[in-house]
Amino acid sequence: MPTAISVGNVRVTALTAGSSHLPPMFYPGWDASAHPELIQDDGTYHIPTGCFLIQGDSFTILLDAGSGPDNLDFPPEMARLAQLSAPPKYLSVGGLLPAALAAAGVTPAEITTVFLTHLHYDHIGWVAPGGTLFFPAAEVVYGAADWDALIAPAPADDQGRVGMEAAKAAGSLRPVDAPTVQIAPGITAHHAPGHTPGHYILKIASEGQEAYLLGDAVQHPLQLTDPGITFLSDADAQRASQTRQKIFTELEGRDVAIGMDHFPGLEFQHITAGTPRSWTTCTGPSRTRTIPRRPGSPGSPGC
Ligand SMILES: [Zn+2]
Repeated sequence: MPTAISVGNVRVTALTAGSSHLPPMFYPGWDASAHPELIQDDGTYHIPTGCFLIQGDSFTILLDAGSGPDNLDFPPEMARLAQLSAPPKYLSVGGLLPAALAAAGVTPAEITTVFLTHLHYDHIGWVAPGGTLFFPAAEVVYGAADWDALIAPAPADDQGRVGMEAAKAAGSLRPVDAPTVQIAPGITAHHAPGHTPGHYILKIASEGQEAYLLGDAVQHPLQLTDPGITFLSDADAQRASQTRQKIFTELEGRDVAIGMDHFPGLEFQHITAGTPRSWTTCTGPSRTRTIPRRPGSPGSPGC
């Protein structure tokens, strides 16, 4: 069952498009030996490749488009560098988004907007796999700065580039570069650079309730309390850290549900106030929860 919350009259559902199995060295500054509970028997940290379905009266938005249909083999060289004696078969497993969408009761043709937090391969894979649009009616919105940084320099046969070029040829792309951009009623994108120069987060506001979808602005749960943990693919690690701290300060102690593409379990979180801050999970054991709104009360989006 998908993890889902209601934010006013907007439904937000986490979808698993795949997973990645990363040696701890992907997170410079992380002392993984202090957290053996986060490391699997294959010596890697397993994270989901998440997307979020955002359904309102007049829109059906998909935030991020997974890693596409393919799996990526675990490179032997990486296993050697990370000193893994029994590495996983795959670095990245894809292929799961179509079934996740179907489980949520949505067809690709019903998606009105694909909003890409940034243009890394694990966020653009289903835009147009093999050059064929997967969401034929969707406008594809992304931060303009990421094209020159990530798509233009990629090899011509890079699958992410092939997909984005196909969407461009079809006239589906809408690059944005303003600090704040309206995506749909109550849905706004906010520039949050660092992980990539064109990275955006999405804020959802409806009937007094709020949720933030952070993409890869936050990559690891321990970044909440340890600002020294970065991610290997951060284009500007210092700026990414500054962006994270700004977001944490903005969200601390507020009744705002937070979703992140690679948060273990893809469950929605809330940040408590005080020192140290901590995550609290919004969703209950059933992993889906809708909070009925009391008359006259702004309520809380599941936190
Ligand atoms: Zn990612």
